[in-house]
Amino acid sequence: MAEGPVVHHYAKRLRAVLEGKKVRIEFGLKKLKASEPSVSKTRILKVEAHGKQFRFHLEDQRILLIHLMMWGSWRIFKRGQAWDKPRERARVIFDTNSHTAVVFSAPVVRLLTPSELQENPSWGNLGPDPLRSDFSSKEFFERLEQDSSREIGEALLDQQVIARVGNILRIEILFCSYIHPRRKVGSLSQDEKKTLLYWVLTLFDRWMKEMGKKNTWIQIYRKSKRPCPNCKTLVDFFRQAGRITYACPKCQR
Ligand SMILES: [Zn+2]
Repeated sequence: MAEGPVVHHYAKRLRAVLEGKKVRIEFGLKKLKASEPSVSKTRILKVEAHGKQFRFHLEDQRILLIHLMMWGSWRIFKRGQAWDKPRERARVIFDTNSHTAVVFSAPVVRLLTPSELQENPSWGNLGPDPLRSDFSSKEFFERLEQDSSREIGEALLDQQVIARVGNILRIEILFCSYIHPRRKVGSLSQDEKKTLLYWVLTLFDRWMKEMGKKNTWIQIYRKSKRPCPNCKTLVDFFRQAGRITYACPKCQR
């Protein structure tokens, strides 16, 4: 599963291989394959990653939007190198003179004009992204407070509130912040919201630094019925927003 900094890492590699290059784009999806012979050769002006969403800005101003959701993954091969995943799972193949970048199993692939993207309620209006230099904490709080009746554990998963936070991160962010996932957004004090922001930024930072190593920042994810590292109470788990959530019933208020 691709989450947070893993996506950032992909984006960096994709930028190096594709940005500014002449590219042949082949769709593994029948629908796009039939309707889009015109993108068979184009230049990619810019590669953007926003959360688990990738945006490829094409020469003709259109945007190729790819969302990994839970299942998608990227591979970048040198030209001619053998693939380690089956070709029938390829959704989009980008060929340059030197490399082939392939996204596998991505459930969302769309070719949109800038205004279509802007108006798209699911993909157009993303929340601030902690790994981008334009991250705005003010905007994060504004988007968070738009629905005060929502549970905080659910709000953090909403990419329109904050981009890139997946299940593991939101569980650990809330644990470090001593905030229970079931708390309503409207019940959080200013101090709690500041603490929350602090842990959003801190855990993203630690994840980036430890990527591919130990992940020492993961404390309670998948630790149901094991003692909380702070107070030894058994960690609780429940479903929230369709995802398994973990929390310490004593530390997290
Ligand atoms: Zn505890």
